[in-house]
Amino acid sequence: MIQAYIAIGSNLSDPVAQANSAIEVLKQHPDLNVIAVSSLYSSTPMGPQDQPDYINAVIAVETELSPLALLDCTQSIEQEHGRVRKAERWGPRTLDLDIVLYGDLEHHCERLTVPHYGMKVREFVLYPLAEIAPELVLPDHTPLQTLLEQVDRNGLGIWSQ
Ligand code: ATP
Ligand code: MG
Ligand code: MG
Repeated sequence: MIQAYIAIGSNLSDPVAQANSAIEVLKQHPDLNVIAVSSLYSSTPMGPQDQPDYINAVIAVETELSPLALLDCTQSIEQEHGRVRKAERWGPRTLDLDIVLYGDLEHHCERLTVPHYGMKVREFVLYPLAEIAPELVLPDHTPLQTLLEQVDRNGLGIWSQ
């Protein structure tokens, strides 16, 4: 059994509902045991600025799925939520589920890089992650708190209606 962290992002088609629905589907999944869910956050877009703000969250799961089986699972949930992959990088999306960490595994292949290559510099991953795992230490021994000291909130806030 390993513990993995999944980052959720959405900025299309009622992002709050998309995020809540994704959390619900992950909770119902027979191969995942959701052990922690962060608050929902709102963040300004990375990359192209002519797109709506994002809703983000991070969840912790226990699973016996292999890394690629977990990716199959998160990608099929993205598809169920109407994710359409476009050529534009970091463009608007109904649902993005990124595997931030898979235990202490450091792995790189065509389909999957863990830890996620952007996690150390993305405020919308680091702050929700710290809410549910403040004592976390990355596989390369970097304490999460050290990263938080280096990365500005950049307008990130807990989402409220
Ligand atoms: P970014 O990866 O910069 O956050 P993105 O999430 O918009 O951008 P996607 O279109 O969701 O990018 O995914 C592109 C590819 O990234 C996927 O096809 C997937 O195989 C690959 N990938 C590599 N590492 C991961 C990971 N840790 N979690 C999810 N997808 C990953
Ligand atoms: Mg992403
Ligand atoms: Mg993604």
